[in-house]
Amino acid sequence: MNNVIIVQQDITQLRIEVIVNAANSTLLGGGGVDGAIHRRAGPSLLEACRALGGCPAGEARITPGFNLPAKWIVHTVGPVWRGGTLGEPGLLRACYRNALQLAREQGATSIAFPAISTGVYGYPKIAAAEIALSEMYAAWGFERVVACCFSKEDADIYRRLCSGYAGGESDNGMA
Ligand code: ADP
Repeated sequence: MNNVIIVQQDITQLRIEVIVNAANSTLLGGGGVDGAIHRRAGPSLLEACRALGGCPAGEARITPGFNLPAKWIVHTVGPVWRGGTLGEPGLLRACYRNALQLAREQGATSIAFPAISTGVYGYPKIAAAEIALSEMYAAWGFERVVACCFSKEDADIYRRLCSGYAGGESDNGMA
């Protein structure tokens, strides 16, 4: 069990080693959290992403954070929700695991995730949060794992689900 913290914030503002981007498979930027990250990180991020040549759903790639306070950005591509029978849960779980693994390989001990796939990709919020939290709580090697919710609705869902884990949410004063 590690420290899982829930905040309601713009992920681009977090002072943390790694933030995770819910990217699309081109890695060339888009709307939502992806757009916000590219805007704040600056044009060098697009250049770095272009060199990566895309990323399939469930996998992850890493770039520097450029102008962000975060040192690294892990870009992961969530599944588009198509009813849940086309492997969406496994792909979403893989996003969290692969992102954590890449961050660990960089020696990072703190990481923040947005609610991957729950925006334009349409993954049901509660089902997605259950997967997100189970992977965050299972993550090893981190001092801080942050669930960065953009809306109060999302933060409420995460907080409710969190109480089901031993000890619930930890509080380090970050929020
Ligand atoms: P996806 O395509 O994976 O669904 P979206 O960016 O559309 O990605 O949405 C994923 C989640 O990110 C949604 O919960 C959305 O509210 C949230 N989000 C959007 N902008 C930000 C931001 N600046 N910081 C944190 N979360 C954000």
